[in-house]
Amino acid sequence: MWQALTTGSLIAHAEKYHGDTDVVSVEGDGSLSRSSWREVGANARRIKSALDRLGVAAGARCATIAWNNRRHLELYFGIGSGGRVTHTMNPRLTPDQMIYILDHAADEVLFFDRSFLPVVAKLVPHLRSVRHFVLMGPRDAEAAGLITGLLFHDELLETGDPATEWPDLDETAPAALCYTSGTTGHPKGVQYSHRSLVLHSLGGNQPDGLAIAARDTVMPVVPMFHVNAWGVPYIAAAVGAKLVMPGPKLDGESLARLIEAEQVTLALGVPTIWMGLLAGLKSTGIKPVSLKRTVVGGSALPPSMLREFRETYGVDLIHAWGMTETSPLGTLNQLLQKHGTLEEGARHRLRECQGRPPWGVDLRLVDEAGHELPRDGKTQGELQIRGHWIVESYFGQEETALTLDGWFDTGDVATLDADGYLVIRDRSKDIIKSGGEWISTVELENIAIAHPQIANAAAIAARHLKWDERPVVLAVPVAGETPDEQDIRAFYEGKVAHWQVPDRVIFVEALPLGATGKVMKAKLRELYGDVLLP
Ligand code: ADP
Repeated sequence: MWQALTTGSLIAHAEKYHGDTDVVSVEGDGSLSRSSWREVGANARRIKSALDRLGVAAGARCATIAWNNRRHLELYFGIGSGGRVTHTMNPRLTPDQMIYILDHAADEVLFFDRSFLPVVAKLVPHLRSVRHFVLMGPRDAEAAGLITGLLFHDELLETGDPATEWPDLDETAPAALCYTSGTTGHPKGVQYSHRSLVLHSLGGNQPDGLAIAARDTVMPVVPMFHVNAWGVPYIAAAVGAKLVMPGPKLDGESLARLIEAEQVTLALGVPTIWMGLLAGLKSTGIKPVSLKRTVVGGSALPPSMLREFRETYGVDLIHAWGMTETSPLGTLNQLLQKHGTLEEGARHRLRECQGRPPWGVDLRLVDEAGHELPRDGKTQGELQIRGHWIVESYFGQEETALTLDGWFDTGDVATLDADGYLVIRDRSKDIIKSGGEWISTVELENIAIAHPQIANAAAIAARHLKWDERPVVLAVPVAGETPDEQDIRAFYEGKVAHWQVPDRVIFVEALPLGATGKVMKAKLRELYGDVLLP
């Protein structure tokens, strides 16, 4: 039987077969709201029907600037499954970047959380395409005074029909849009089709992937504005898992309390979030007994974190790799049957790498001339990827984003072994090239973080007269500790080749983090790139 693969089929399934399963949401004011897949589905239909009544055309882009919460989930399906495109916007971009993106995407509607009212009010006069602004909440007199014609999510729901049918759509039609953070040049939009979102949900959620089931309680800490919270909203709908949306409070103590209160079994986020959680578990004394797995990705997982989660809390940390262009799940780390007989140290080392591709994606390494390199676990090359949920061309661009033979160049430098285990050595723009030899910043950071006096670290290439570039590490000391630069440099001896030991270790109070919790290395290069010059 042929049926189009649409995201409407996911929410329809959740409504019908998992209607009474909880969707829990932390709201902007810190309160907890409790809803269900039945209610989320009905509200999503209302949104669809309200957008019809507003005359928003099929295929139109509707932007969201919002945290992970229940209304945002309703919009994912209400907009996208209703035949329009859910364009999630990163709220931590500069106003200029937001204006550029909203203009480029020609968004017709802009939905936003109450906390972003001041930001949006400033954008309004500069936006050419947006016809409707919608505050994601009840009517609010102050907000209504700031933006002429402002609409309110909860009132919009009243005008919509909860019995509206999900439309029959072409599965290749776009359902979602997300822009890369654009560390260099303008941000680029990646559009996801219904088909790619459904296949990503199925492919990424296999037993050796995320393995989310109806009996799970899933907390996506990774933002819904960052590659669709790694697909979790769609996957959770497909399997009917309970969802816990953490809202804006992402500090370790708040997350620890939420995990305990809602008995979260699986949580997903970037390493900085889990560093915060580990600190929050210590300060609150909470034991996350319900938590079985956390999935970590977006930047490299420090091995010391993996050990702390497993050994102190019995939580399995699953390392994953991906990017906006890959929907994002590209690899996930689960061990194979043959690894059962390995000693624990070797199993640990395997768990530290970025994992293997699930069905649906294929990886290869190439050299600078584009020739494929061996999968021997040693040879480093440019990582390329292809598959059902990998970008083909950027939004609004005619030309393909792929190589002549149909692969997407990730910009990551990596190794692959014979089983397909991926190790990301660096991003090609971050890697340090010292006297023509490559030094992995990831490796230098992991060593620093393993030092008991260091809480977090970032390695960058600093300009050097003789060697072109040399490694410099910016390190955040553990609270109350005053580490010594020479001690930390000595800590590297024997762990990396002598010439890879950083020239300087500079202590800083904090590292600059981007909107998705990743260290902004370009910013650090700007600040510290010249420290080795005379
Ligand atoms: P940006 O970082 O520019 O916002 P993405 O979120 O798409 O864009 O990031 C994708 C990049 O993040 C990858 O190309 C890779 O360099 C890095 N990355 C993602 N996951 C991991 C991981 N598990 N380990 C190391 N690097 C990772």
